[in-house]
Amino acid sequence: MGKKIVIVGGGISGLSTALFLNRAGVAVKVLESRQEPGGNLLTTNVSGYQIEHGPNSTMQKPGREDDALGRIMDIVGLTPMVANSEANKRFIVRNHKLAALPSSPLSFITTKAFSVRAKLRLLWEPFIGPADHEESIAQFVERRLGREFLDYAIDPFVSGVYAGNTHNLSVQAATAKIYALEKNHGSLIRGAIFGRQKNISGMPKGRLISFAKGMGELPQAISRFLPAGSILTGTKVVRLKQQKNRWLVYWESKGGSAGIEEADQVVLSTPASQTAKILEETSLGASRLLQTIQYPPILSIAMGYSQNSVAHPLDGFGFLVPRCEKIRTLGSLFSSTLFPNRAPEGKILLTNFIGGATDLAVEQTGDRELAAEVANNLSSLLGIDTSPEFVQATRYREAIPQYTLGHLQKIEAIDQAMANHKGLHLRCNYSGGISVGDCVRNGELLAEKILS
Ligand SMILES: Cc1cc2nc3c(=O)[nH]c(=O)nc-3n(C[C@H](O)[C@H](O)[C@H](O)COP(=O)(O)OP(=O)(O)OC[C@H]3O[C@@H](n4cnc5c(N)ncnc54)[C@H](O)[C@@H]3O)c2cc1C
Repeated sequence: MGKKIVIVGGGISGLSTALFLNRAGVAVKVLESRQEPGGNLLTTNVSGYQIEHGPNSTMQKPGREDDALGRIMDIVGLTPMVANSEANKRFIVRNHKLAALPSSPLSFITTKAFSVRAKLRLLWEPFIGPADHEESIAQFVERRLGREFLDYAIDPFVSGVYAGNTHNLSVQAATAKIYALEKNHGSLIRGAIFGRQKNISGMPKGRLISFAKGMGELPQAISRFLPAGSILTGTKVVRLKQQKNRWLVYWESKGGSAGIEEADQVVLSTPASQTAKILEETSLGASRLLQTIQYPPILSIAMGYSQNSVAHPLDGFGFLVPRCEKIRTLGSLFSSTLFPNRAPEGKILLTNFIGGATDLAVEQTGDRELAAEVANNLSSLLGIDTSPEFVQATRYREAIPQYTLGHLQKIEAIDQAMANHKGLHLRCNYSGGISVGDCVRNGELLAEKILS
C-alpha cells in the first residue's frame, strides 16, 4: 500500500487497529499520551499481589466472526489463561446476603435470588409484545420480566458492566444482544431457548480469559510485535489539520517539545472528551456531539486479606450489589479464585468497584474514605473479621462511556459529520461495545475498511 496511517491513542482499540493494519503491510505510527501503551489495560505487582487496574478478564467469544481476540493472540503468540471453572457461579446481594444466581433451569426453580412471584411472572413474558419506541433498559426489563428481575438481575449486571443507571441507558445500544432476542424471537425466553446464543442468565457463551501476567500482557505483546519505533509514548495529540490529501497531526510532549506527524489517514482511538478536543477545528459538529457522551467516575480498589480471615469460601466470580440494597460498593471480583496466581500463598485478592452513574459523589470523596467504606461492606457481606492487609485504589475520573437513550442516533450523526473528512476515522469504546473483545473486533473491522 505504501501509505502511512497515524493512530492516536494506544489503548486496546488503537493497538488492535494498528496490529491488523501492520499485518497487511501498512506502515503505522501510534501516538500515546501516557508513558505506557494499553489504556485501561494495566497490571502491576505489589507485595506479591497481581493488581488489575482496569479489566480483570474478558470473554473470548467463539466463532469466526466474533473471535478477533483469538486472532490477535495467535499473531502475537500469547497463550490465554482461562478462568477457574468456579467463575461460572455468580452472586448477587439480596437482603444484605450473598445469593447465587441460577446457572441452569433447575437451579432457577430453587434459587433464593428471586421470589416465587417473580419466577411465576416469567411465564407471562413470551406473550408480551414489543414497544414502539426506544426504551431504557429499566423500561424494557420491567415491561418484559417485571420489577424484581430489573432490580436483582439486570440492575446489578448493568452496574457490573457499565457502572451505569438502567433508567438512562438505551436497551438497543447498551444491551443490543438482549434487545435482539425480543426483536428476532418476540420473547427473551423463546430467544434464550431457541436462539442458542445465550444461556439462561443472559451471559454470552464463550470463555473467560486473562493472561499469566494479567491483562496488561495483551498491549505489551502487541507493542513488542509492532516494528520498533511504531509507538511514540508521552506524546499527546492536540489538534489535526487537513492539507490536500494528507493529514497533519500536531502533538506535544510532557517535556515541553512539540511536533507534527504527517499521515495519509488518521484513526482517533481516544475517549470521547479527548476526541472532541482534537476535532474542534476539523469538525465542530462531531466535536460537540462527542462532548455529550458521559463517562461517570469509578474507583477500582484491590484489597488483599489472609485467607483464614474470610468466612465466605469465595467460590465464584464475585458478587454484584443491586442498587436497591442501598450498599455503596457496586460489586467485588474474587480475583484470586478466578486466577489463583493473583495472590501470594495463603492470601486472597478481591477487586472492588465503587462509584458509577448512580454515585457521582465519589468525585468529592477521598480514596481512603471510600476504601474504608468498601472494606466495611466486605466485612459484613463476606464475614471478614479484619482490615485488609493491602489496599490499592485506582481512580478513573472518566471510566466507561454510557450508551444512553439516543446513543445510536448520536453515533450516526457523528459518522455523518465525519463523512466529509476523507481518511479520518474514529475508533474507541464509545461505540460498538465496551468489552476488550469488542474493542479488538472493532479495531479489526476498521483495519479491513481502511485496507479495502
Ligand atoms: C475499571 C474498569 C474495569 C473494566 N473491566 C472490564 C472487564 O472486566 N472486561 C472487559 O472486557 N472490559 C472491561 N472494561 C472495559 C474496557 O477495559 C475498555 O472498554 C477498553 O479497555 C477501552 O479501550 P480503548 O482503547 O477503546 O480506550 P482506552 O483504554 O481509554 O484508550 C485510549 C487511549 O488514548 C490515550 N489518549 C487519550 N487522549 C490522548 C491524546 N490527546 N493523545 C494521545 N493519546 C491519548 C489514552 O492515554 C489511552 O491510552 C473495564 C473498564 C474500566 C475502566
